[in-house]
Amino acid sequence: MNPAIDLTRLHKRYGRRTAVDSLSLSVEPGSVFGLIGPNGAGKTTTLRMILDIIRPTSGAVRVLGQDPRSAGAALRRRIGFVPGELRLDGRMTGRRMLDFYSQASGPVPAGRIDLLSERLGLDLSRRVGTLSKGNKQKLGIVQAFMHEPELLVLDEPTSGLDPLVQREFLQLVREARGRGQTVLLSSHVLSEIQQAADSVAVLSAGRIVAEGNVASLRLGAIRRVRAGFEHVSEEELRRELAHLPHLADLEIARADGSVRLSATVEGDIDPFVKSIARHRLLDLSVEEPDLEESVLRLYGSPQPPAEGADHA
Ligand code: ATP
Repeated sequence: MNPAIDLTRLHKRYGRRTAVDSLSLSVEPGSVFGLIGPNGAGKTTTLRMILDIIRPTSGAVRVLGQDPRSAGAALRRRIGFVPGELRLDGRMTGRRMLDFYSQASGPVPAGRIDLLSERLGLDLSRRVGTLSKGNKQKLGIVQAFMHEPELLVLDEPTSGLDPLVQREFLQLVREARGRGQTVLLSSHVLSEIQQAADSVAVLSAGRIVAEGNVASLRLGAIRRVRAGFEHVSEEELRRELAHLPHLADLEIARADGSVRLSATVEGDIDPFVKSIARHRLLDLSVEEPDLEESVLRLYGSPQPPAEGADHA
């Protein structure tokens, strides 16, 4: 089957700055593809080239088998797009705006706008200009999903949404895949991609530094752990943990009558948990570091694209 999106050696330069550097990727139809990377990695630039909002400096883009530069409005109708920054006419109500968009997007199943708005908790009777950032984002999501397009291109769609609405949104993404729609989702939040995506590309400084299924990328395998203990000495803890595999950045110190530990676990957390479990724990937290840190730790610091380097 032909890919829903096929990018070949895509390159985008702004003056002397390279935003996207020789990027090739392919998105299977009916799958959810996650594009993740820290701020400034080139995600928005890539998605805009797919939508023909901006044009690549060089390289080829195929979307649903067509070249978006020549396919025009007919191709756009087959795509739902949530842009990173929504520009909305503030005087219209949400309902009016969606009616207006539905004339351009093609048929919207009866009741679909109300159903989506209800699920996301969006009041369609309010003027768009009075909506909070999160509610504007919901409007953008309804607009992209309402006509059940073959392809959804979603640029950081959950920014500004509270956790319950984020969960509902991820459910919409899964339902879209269930219907055979293809989804390209960008994010700088790993957990969101982990929950929704079949395959992932990690973007850093305009380049893909890793690609595969979510589990194989091991990005989620890095965790920051913190714990407090009593009735144990710093030396004893240090001795027990010193030779554990997968443990880095170990710091142990006494504070306020207890012993505090912080460390980074890379990979299997089980030996660490078994080892500390024999002591009396006062508290324990296990956190996901931010994506930038995980990318750097696993894939190193990418060389920034050379300024003015000619890839055309
Ligand atoms: P974010 O999550 O912060 O939006 P991103 O991964 O989407 O990050 P892009 O917005 O694609 O990243 O930006 C990639 C790089 O290109 C950045 O260094 C950015 O400063 C630069 N860039 C983007 N748009 C322009 C522009 N119109 N003119 C000049 N530089 C730009």
